[in-house]
Amino acid sequence: MRDNILTRVQENSALARLILVAIVWISTIVWVAKDSAQRTSNLGLHTVYILLVTILTPVVWLPIYLLVRPSTYQKDRLPWRESMILKNTPCQGCGMMNLHHHVHCVFCGDNLVNDCRECHKTYPHHYDFCFHCGAPNIDEAPTEGDD
Ligand SMILES: [Zn+2]
Ligand SMILES: [Zn+2]
Repeated sequence: MRDNILTRVQENSALARLILVAIVWISTIVWVAKDSAQRTSNLGLHTVYILLVTILTPVVWLPIYLLVRPSTYQKDRLPWRESMILKNTPCQGCGMMNLHHHVHCVFCGDNLVNDCRECHKTYPHHYDFCFHCGAPNIDEAPTEGDD
């Protein structure tokens, strides 16, 4: 009787440990997916990072990932910084430089400006804030009836 209860408790704690490992594992996969998306636009590389953390486990892959991942965020890298100095706008679609007053990319036709959610004026899509009113550039966030 006692032995029976003891084995049950052991089984339960083994299960709890398994669940804990699964949670850590999955949240690491999600974190790597988000982090690498900000660092590279290379879809192949992005997929490899996520696959490796899934297969090799976070314990093995996370330290390696921290070493091999691109060291900077995409938007901190040239040509993004250079474009601020030269008053050009890099295209999100094809990466080519456009003059800063262009509304569409002259190489691929992609949109180069954002409509501000607050003041409804336009500004280059890669700016973090609207330069007319200072509203943050978060066009991908859901807009739920606070207006
Ligand atoms: Zn383009
Ligand atoms: Zn604005």
